[in-house]
Amino acid sequence: MATIFSRIITGEIPSYKIAEEDRFFAFLDINPMAKGHTLVVPKQETDYLFDLDDTLLSEMMLFAKKVAKAIEAAVSCERVGVMVIGLEVPHAHIHLIPINREGDMNLANPRVNLSNEEFEEIAANIRSCFA
Ligand code: AMP
Repeated sequence: MATIFSRIITGEIPSYKIAEEDRFFAFLDINPMAKGHTLVVPKQETDYLFDLDDTLLSEMMLFAKKVAKAIEAAVSCERVGVMVIGLEVPHAHIHLIPINREGDMNLANPRVNLSNEEFEEIAANIRSCFA
């Protein structure tokens, strides 16, 4: 059975899409730690990030860099934090989180509640900055 992220990539499940390339996809996290919290995933279904082959992992990082630059340009933040957890969804992914201080990366923090319109607006702003 396809993972939830594969179903997002095919469009079967809706998402706030940020960017797509041949082998990668980026979309807003539905339960964000900050406005602009984005997930970067390979289209290939592999559970654990560090089981990806070297080439795919390296190229995923370069794709994540471009997404992070777009987030930085669209969302007011000190920088974009990078996190890998992967305990909830068994499809490798990198969290990109706009942060202003170390504590913003604390998983125990309350999540940000956003309306559909707010998600749409943030996604459109980040997309417009993606080069
Ligand atoms: P983890 O596997 O622990 O890195 O967490 C998975 C992340 O995926 C969580 O931050 C969820 O909020 C996020 N997530 C789960 N389902 C969706 C979805 N349908 N759309 C966007 N983000 C999701």
